[in-house]
Amino acid sequence: MSDQDLVIGANLPDYEFVRMVVDEAYRQGARSVSVLYTDDQTARSKFLYGSETAIDYAPSWLQEGLAPALQNGMAYLRLGGSDPSLLKDIDPGKVARSSKAAAVVGKPISEAIVGGATNWCIVPCVSPRWAKHVYPDLAEAEAVEKLWDVVFATTRADQPDPVAAWKQHVEQVKRNMDRLNSYGFQALRFQGPGTDLTVGLADGHVWCGVESFARNGAVCSPNIPTEEVFTMPHRNRVEGHVRSTKPLSLRGQVLDGIQVTFKDGAVTSVCAEQGEDVIKKLIETDEGARRLGEVALVPHSSPVSQTGLLFFDTLFDENAASHIALGRAYADTMCDYFEIPVDERSQRGANDSLIHVDWMIGSDEVDVDGIGPDNQAVPVMRKGEWAWSA
Ligand code: ZN
Ligand code: ZN
Repeated sequence: MSDQDLVIGANLPDYEFVRMVVDEAYRQGARSVSVLYTDDQTARSKFLYGSETAIDYAPSWLQEGLAPALQNGMAYLRLGGSDPSLLKDIDPGKVARSSKAAAVVGKPISEAIVGGATNWCIVPCVSPRWAKHVYPDLAEAEAVEKLWDVVFATTRADQPDPVAAWKQHVEQVKRNMDRLNSYGFQALRFQGPGTDLTVGLADGHVWCGVESFARNGAVCSPNIPTEEVFTMPHRNRVEGHVRSTKPLSLRGQVLDGIQVTFKDGAVTSVCAEQGEDVIKKLIETDEGARRLGEVALVPHSSPVSQTGLLFFDTLFDENAASHIALGRAYADTMCDYFEIPVDERSQRGANDSLIHVDWMIGSDEVDVDGIGPDNQAVPVMRKGEWAWSA
């Protein structure tokens, strides 16, 4: 929006791209643009050389300044693309402690963003280390160029009129959202290899996707690319077992083969072929970390999935497969969320936590049924594709 303040979070090596984004933000009428740089390598320093006190501590001065600005409508843009295995040699226990400290002081910021106070967006930015993860056999420069091509294709930036192409995409996703909202399902059932999971949906849940309507009056696409339609699970009504279908890049490590059992909404057992420590620590973050805050449907034929690539980056991988998220729910996936007292939100099924971690459970071998108010099963996806023509 014009005359709006904008804050950009970016990785230091991406400064040339950031300069172009800042130029464009002013051309579009920004009142101010601030850039907060982080640096993958300095993020390692605390774990390598910091004291025990340093691991458990996160300063709050930056968040105390940012949170009110976001609540007052400052826009937020995050450029992604970190090294997926930045912390692979670091003790996951230390990373979990540090992440928790950061999440505690960052809660006012995530409340502003996830709570829909302002327009925000996460977009990819290709870094050499990320590109080498996706294309390990290519030389670095070639890997970077190829990954940028994929980014342009999946975000539709390579189309003759990218904005028109994006709007057309928005309309298509909305048709699926509207259809799901019209069914009023009480639960979704996922069935596939290693998976038989019934995800009860929150009372008054709403299916959302592609666009959010922020309280500052802006309409935004919080993730680009995005293919998902998503809603709020009921925090106490998730039953069964589920197996991940793609690796997950989390806290600087790569997790794979995650298997989880749920009872009455909570995780009762978890194991993983790779990164088991990381996920076990994750669900110990707080009470809400072992319950679901999001369930999302993505067709297997999505452009991100069609690349056939593993991105080791949730922004992409979650848009290649249906997924669930442990932790905090999104306010806009429950009808009248802000008018409902906090206790009642939780009774209706809204989950709260310091974390929100998506992981992929869909594939071309997974079927999804919607369970209607009358307990009848309605086909929603078959072999990873919509059971209807969009
Ligand atoms: Zn999602
Ligand atoms: Zn999510």
